[in-house]
This record gives sequence, C-alpha cells and structure tokens, in this order.
Amino acid sequence: MRTCPRCGVPRILTSEHTWLPNGTMTLARDVTHRMVFIDNDALNYTMDSIGDRLGVPLEGIIQEAKRKSGKHFMDAVLSGAKGVIARNLISTRVYDQLGKQVSMLGLGAAEVSSYKRHRYLDGVITDAYSGPAITGDICGAFESIEGRAAEATFEVSGGAVHCHIEAASERRPENDDASSFLPPPMVAGRNIYELCPVCKAPLSMGSQYAFDPDRGIIVDRKTDHRVVLIGVMTLSGLFGELEAELGRDVPRMMADIEKGRVRELIAAKGRDLDTSEAGYLRYMKTLELKGMGNGSSVSISDGTVRARVDNPYYEPLVAGFLAGFYEATSGKSAQVDWTSGTQGFSEVTIRPS
Ligand SMILES: [Zn+2]
Repeated sequence: MRTCPRCGVPRILTSEHTWLPNGTMTLARDVTHRMVFIDNDALNYTMDSIGDRLGVPLEGIIQEAKRKSGKHFMDAVLSGAKGVIARNLISTRVYDQLGKQVSMLGLGAAEVSSYKRHRYLDGVITDAYSGPAITGDICGAFESIEGRAAEATFEVSGGAVHCHIEAASERRPENDDASSFLPPPMVAGRNIYELCPVCKAPLSMGSQYAFDPDRGIIVDRKTDHRVVLIGVMTLSGLFGELEAELGRDVPRMMADIEKGRVRELIAAKGRDLDTSEAGYLRYMKTLELKGMGNGSSVSISDGTVRARVDNPYYEPLVAGFLAGFYEATSGKSAQVDWTSGTQGFSEVTIRPS
C-alpha cells in the first residue's frame, strides 16, 4: 500500500525523511540535507510580488537557481559506485525514479515523453508547482545524470508544463555550480512527536496535510493551500541568487511581503487569538512540523515582542511569519527586525511602527 491506511501519509515520504526534536527535518539517508514543507502558493506569491516591485521577471533566476540545486542534489544521490552504474547502464530507470521523487515532494506528476541519452530529454509535468522551478529541477538532474551541461526551455499548454532539456556543446566555467551555502550549526531541542502506530510518521502530518501521490500534490488542510517539500539548501540558493541579482533589500522585502500575507490570512479567519507569551509559543509550534525551526522563547513588554527561533530555515520569512501574527492580532502596523541565524538561532523583535 502506497499510503498509510491509518494516517494517509505516503510510505515513501515517511521512510525517506526524519523529524528531529530540534524543529528540523532531514533526508533519512543524509542528515545534512535539511528539508521543509513550504506553502507553494505563498512562495509563488512572494516571487511574483518581488518581481512586480522591482519590475523584473524572475523566471530566469528561479530556473537557474533550481538547476544548480537539482544538479547538486542528484550528484549526492548518484555518488559512489551506484552512481557509476546508474549513469552508464540504466539512465532511463534513474529518470523513472526521479519522477517518483517529484510526486513524493508534491511538485507534480512528471513523465519522460522523449529521451536520447547524452542528447536531450522532453518531459511533461502535470500539476507542476511552478514552470521555471520544475524545469530547473529536471535540467539539473539531467546534467548530473548525463555528466554534461544543458540548456532548458519550457512552455505551458493544456495545463501542463512541457520542458525540453538539451545537452550543450560547451562546458560550464569551473566553479559555476559550486554551492556557497554553509549550513549554520544546529541548536538542540526537545520536541516530541506523537507517531502513527502503523507507519511511524508524526501523527500531525496526516492531520495537517492531504496527500495525492498520483498527482504529486500535497495540500494543507487548514489553509487549502498547496505545499511542497523542498531542500533548505535549495531555498537558500534561490533567495541568495535573488539577493545577488536584485540587491540587498530583497530579504527585507520578503519579510514585508510575508508579514502582509500572514496578517490577511489570520485576519480572514477572524478568530480571537491568544497574544500572551504562551499564545506566541503555541503559534510558533506550527513551524516545527514543517521543519522550519523551533520557537524556543518569547517575552513581551511595553508592546514589544521578542521571540527566539532556533534553527530558522530562513530568518526573513520567520520574522514575517511572526510580524503578521502581531499585526493581525494587535491591529497595529509593526516594525520587525531579526538577527542572523549564524549561531543556530535568530532573535526576532517586533514593535509598533
Ligand atoms: Zn501512518
């Protein structure tokens, strides 16, 4: 059975991931490879908003950042003797495996429609989470599997993304694909997950998310938004690329966009929320199941909220997530600041602006 009859979580997703007590989740086979569940509607909205504010299309940057991380990921999967065999003998089977990964991560359903070894690959992706992102993912995997640089294009027709990946005649410059991402140290935590007695996935996974493994779709039951599982290294690469291309204001812009989005989301529900320190701690609990970090302490005085989040996946988005709650519940507009998570935690300060 592909999904657990008790909690509904796909078996492959549970077996390939590990939830740690410090608010993070990782690949089971590689604990240095951290993953998060991220709201795909929110991510696309953030990208679109940044593109609008700066008046530049981001598709090219997104596709290129995803190509790099896709290649990096596949290089890790195909390292060692297994990779030599995969690359030389059974590359078509590697692409089938890749298709399964794509749907497990909630990125859509991908099929190879035409393929010639070392030359090109045509793919059709239905329910794709993003045209440029999935095209970049597949291009990076192609480069890793075929051992050569490639060019990728895509078009959307009939609701599906059609991508064409073609081997390039020229090599990439040395170090072009080197990752500059250095994961910060992890802070320990003591979160305890209640596990499904049948499949051992955290029970809250099945209650928070609905999985459709055939279509490659994961939906957050609480918001009805689509979510995807994505590597933190991938996100850092993407956000770093945006900052490098568009300027140092990008992180603050992302925090600001996230703050507004979260404020509207909470305000739309119109419920009375607990804004005490305990209320903030409970609100931050939603980070940990998603692997986004661990809200470890909060203090409130004179209308200023100070929260510490251990192992934040991306500080500006964590800060926006908290500031949105502040604005929705106080009715005031907020100024938010955060410290860099290089020591393994970030301190977020929110005060009326
Ligand atoms: Zn289960």
